[in-house]
Amino acid sequence: MSFGLCNSTTNRSISCKEIEENFADLHHPLSQLQAKAEASRCLYCYDAPCINACPTGIDIPTFIHQIRTDNIIGSAKTILSENIMGGTCARACPTEILCEQSCVLNASLQEPVKIGALQRFAVDPVIDSINGTKEKDKHPFTRQNETGKKLAIIGAGPAGLSCAHRAAMLGHEVTIFEAKSKPGGLNEYGLAAYKMVDDFAQREVEFLLGIGGIRVEYSKHLNKDVFLTQLQLKYDAVFIGIGLGSVNKLGIDSESNTSIIDAIEFIQRIRQASDKSSVKVGNNVLVIGAGNTAIDAAIQAKRLGATHVTLVYRRDEQAMTATEWEVDLARRNDVKLVFFAAPDKYDPAGAKMIFKKTTIDAGKLKLTDESFELPADMILTAIGQKLNIDSIVEDKREPNLKIVKGKIVISERYETSLKGVYAGGDCVQGDDLTVQAVQDGKQAAHSIHDYLMAQG
Ligand SMILES: Cc1cc2nc3c(=O)[nH]c(=O)nc-3n(C[C@H](O)[C@H](O)[C@H](O)COP(=O)(O)OP(=O)(O)OC[C@H]3O[C@@H](n4cnc5c(N)ncnc54)[C@H](O)[C@@H]3O)c2cc1C
Ligand code: SF4
Repeated sequence: MSFGLCNSTTNRSISCKEIEENFADLHHPLSQLQAKAEASRCLYCYDAPCINACPTGIDIPTFIHQIRTDNIIGSAKTILSENIMGGTCARACPTEILCEQSCVLNASLQEPVKIGALQRFAVDPVIDSINGTKEKDKHPFTRQNETGKKLAIIGAGPAGLSCAHRAAMLGHEVTIFEAKSKPGGLNEYGLAAYKMVDDFAQREVEFLLGIGGIRVEYSKHLNKDVFLTQLQLKYDAVFIGIGLGSVNKLGIDSESNTSIIDAIEFIQRIRQASDKSSVKVGNNVLVIGAGNTAIDAAIQAKRLGATHVTLVYRRDEQAMTATEWEVDLARRNDVKLVFFAAPDKYDPAGAKMIFKKTTIDAGKLKLTDESFELPADMILTAIGQKLNIDSIVEDKREPNLKIVKGKIVISERYETSLKGVYAGGDCVQGDDLTVQAVQDGKQAAHSIHDYLMAQG
């Protein structure tokens, strides 16, 4: 089967056919027969625990029942009214630690209902049919009467887009300022290519914007092209959803060597390349880190044709932040895992990385005197992201936006320390998950609505 994802694999230990297969959909969509069979496994629990386990609170038993009774549009509406990015979340949510983990069927040692797959079954056809029509009245969401209030949103990632959609629905006029040339944030640039095949991230945004009342200004960078103080004057409220723009450094010699690459940058190259074989990958790839970004980078390096991929972490497997399912997927993709080791030096001439072994002493991580080396012609670093404070705070001598431990501080109602300025998504404290960013954006839109309406 050809997806047009590969043109040439000269000098690679992998064929184009393999690359095509490696970057095809990780989970195949359910057929109608499969969806109906899966929906019939749901017990439609009263007080369903799966609803509480979903950060956006989707009414899961209702949408599954709607699938069972062939009401696909109704089912999609149930999902999208709580989570406008239900399509992405159906593909990328770690359901194994959220809704599916809490499914009551687990208690009787049965497989949980495949909630994520059913969600995709309901949402995909509705997005496709709405995008394919010019008849705006078919869009499942309509706007309330215009309020005359203007909201500026910084960042067109899941948090910003979700906030924009809900605020537009509540009748406000929204302008999004986005630094990049495309919307979607990490849905477009960060999620693993085999989770988000084809142009789904863009099609989902097109559908979301179809509600109307939202304008997006691309290549508009906060603190370069637009400034918070200006936006506060020109708009009735501001929402910040800029994610985490900087990555942590290893802090070793030779870190500027071109073989050492930020894992998110590597993933971005893969996501943006229609020909995956055009993306350079090493033969001996090392990935430093222990979260889902590290796992995604390691698997994609392997799937691009790297001969050996080794993920190295300074603690043990239990301390990894990647989910068990993701770690298992890495192992199934022939990624080797090495624990209790920290990078010490890179030797570009010898194409190897020298590590120091680590140990835990009275709960604290310590370096030992023991070293070892691993061959490495490409090193992907995934040791965490942080807020790019320079991209928000205009005058560092007088930072009036409260930031603690590299995240914007917000109240329960998503208010920052600045009046009329709200924030959500990865740039605030919380889980760095797409679904959480969507929930933040939605909830913040409601708080902003209350604030704007109280102004009269
Ligand atoms: C490699 C990787 C893989 C991931 N995989 C998963 C996964 O499988 N499942 C999952 O649930 N979560 C995953 N996540 C986490 C998820 O992607 C994030 O939690 C989510 O995207 C956060 O949304 P956000 O809107 O807060 O930020 P972002 O998605 O980062 O969006 C922020 C937006 O703001 C823009 N921006 C930044 N600075 C400025 C500025 N100064 N001016 C204007 N615009 C600006 C950016 O260009 C971007 O469009 C992954 C994260 C990474 C890094
Ligand atoms: S917990 Fe499982 S069985 Fe119960 S409503 Fe949710 S998906 Fe259905």
